[in-house]
Amino acid sequence: MPLPHFHPKPLWSPELYTSSRPIIIAGPCSAESREQVLATARGLASEGVQIFRAGVWKPRTYPGSFEGWGEKALPWLQEVRAETGMLVGCEVGLPQHVEAVLRAELDYIWIGARTCSNPFSMAELAEALRGTSLPVLVKNPLTPSPDIWKGALLRLVQAGLTKLALIHRGFDSFATPEYRFSPLWPNILALHEELPQVPLYFDPSHIAGDAALIEPLLRTARALPYEGWIIESHIAPHEAQTDAKQQITPAQLGQVLQTKPASEEALQMELLRTHLDWIDEQSLILLSERRTLAKSIGNLKKTQALQALQTKRRDDKLQRLLKVARKYHLPESLIQSLYREVHEESVLLQEEIIQAEESKDKP
Ligand code: PEP
Ligand code: MN
Repeated sequence: MPLPHFHPKPLWSPELYTSSRPIIIAGPCSAESREQVLATARGLASEGVQIFRAGVWKPRTYPGSFEGWGEKALPWLQEVRAETGMLVGCEVGLPQHVEAVLRAELDYIWIGARTCSNPFSMAELAEALRGTSLPVLVKNPLTPSPDIWKGALLRLVQAGLTKLALIHRGFDSFATPEYRFSPLWPNILALHEELPQVPLYFDPSHIAGDAALIEPLLRTARALPYEGWIIESHIAPHEAQTDAKQQITPAQLGQVLQTKPASEEALQMELLRTHLDWIDEQSLILLSERRTLAKSIGNLKKTQALQALQTKRRDDKLQRLLKVARKYHLPESLIQSLYREVHEESVLLQEEIIQAEESKDKP
């Protein structure tokens, strides 16, 4: 794959790289009105932010919610640039969006997590961008496989784009108790090791899903090799029409930019713990699948007039699991007690199914 040989050009002019802190991109999730955009931009400019973001076309999970003002909002971004001198950009999802952004002469774009998972969309966007020198940042797809993300980047490389970066915005884990999207730092570090030349940006807002979690995430991010951060900021977060919980005011943004890096020990602990949490969450998803299968088996046992508890099968299965446990150096006592709990729960579930159906069968 040609990506390892791809050497991107810097996205921004050299003055933006002189500060010791990461490059900061900030602005509201959505451009909601001219006033909201300008007030937020003024606040951010006074905190020293030099690159402004605002979603203009919003990819919403369900139809009927606020989908952004579209092209009508582009002049608001131009006004931000004229008044504050900030660079301005937005998300694109369709070739028409690219054309509108090029007409409005915005300074950069990003491709969202949902769009970049779709190779047809990426091929169309890459064609629409061919021949331009627009900086493009590509968010990670919701699924953790790096290949879809790398494929999206490669399509842009093949269309001749050179100012490219990746945005780490977290992965769908179907069960993230703390974060809205799981950071899966080890995957990001592995990708960075493979493609160290491609700048990485960190989006704590979409990972956190909660304004209070942004600062702790930035402590970890500060200690990792991100070129920049992209953070959602709104002049009145509680009034935001999208992602209200995770947006912070420009003044709060000024505060979190002061975040000090985690110590080496805290960093190692965070990386290991978030990976461990991910594994625990995946185990719960597997347990839930197991429960669904146990229910179906319960129904079959009922129709075949079998008892829920099959002791020979239970004991044979435990022996098989203990063999696997030995192969993976897992303590036998752990596997014995885990299996006993899981199995007992299944039997109870199946007994309920069998009894419920028996009482229903009775006249
Ligand atoms: C956004 O940046 O507002 C956005 C929609 O992000 P993502 O594609 O990461 O969900
Ligand atoms: Mn958002």
